[in-house]
Amino acid sequence: MEKNRGMSRRFKDNTLVVASHNPGKVREIGDLLDPFGVTLISAAELGLPEPIEDGLTFQANAIIKAKSAAERSSLPSLADDSGLAVTALGGQPGIYSARWAGTGKNFQTAMQRVERELGDASDRTAQFICALALAWPDGQVEVFEGKINGSLVWPPRGQKGFGYDPMFLPNGYAETFGEMDPPQKHEISHRADAFQQLVDGCFRHD
Ligand code: IMP
Repeated sequence: MEKNRGMSRRFKDNTLVVASHNPGKVREIGDLLDPFGVTLISAAELGLPEPIEDGLTFQANAIIKAKSAAERSSLPSLADDSGLAVTALGGQPGIYSARWAGTGKNFQTAMQRVERELGDASDRTAQFICALALAWPDGQVEVFEGKINGSLVWPPRGQKGFGYDPMFLPNGYAETFGEMDPPQKHEISHRADAFQQLVDGCFRHD
């Protein structure tokens, strides 16, 4: 995926809706945007409904969520769509990463499914991918995509992150995302990569 290199619309407001009902993501987005003094309010706090995510890519789903929240709240809205893409599984679970955890959001089960489907595959490489879409109430939207490469360990290790973090070992590190302290994960993660692009495009003032 090409990085967004064009001129992006600048964010000049004070309040930003985080179009996510996932507390792990809302917390991480709060940490990452902290330096910019933006007041964040989550879609859950506003009681916004979750739109149907029927896009076929991370970017398409991020755009659906950001546009829906911006229309309903009349405020600029930021959405994250992300997941784990396992090479030997042809990129699965990908956009279905949350759904593999079932309605009970049980990531122990989801990680077990990844491990089961991997079987004895020699290629255990995977990527976390994060698409961020920033939508304005007038319908304009900017989208960015970040990645981090790693490999999958079994059994899972660590309790510090969320989702598939305990089985993801980023390349060049000895600790899984589940073992790493959050500030270190935030420096290198797929979300940090996408955020860097978002900040450069929409937040940083010259
Ligand atoms: P979404 O809310 O539809 O974008 O689902 C994304 C899912 O991907 C999450 O529920 C997690 O399972 C997984 N995921 C995304 N980012 C991360 C991460 O940083 N660590 C662990 N799992 C993640």
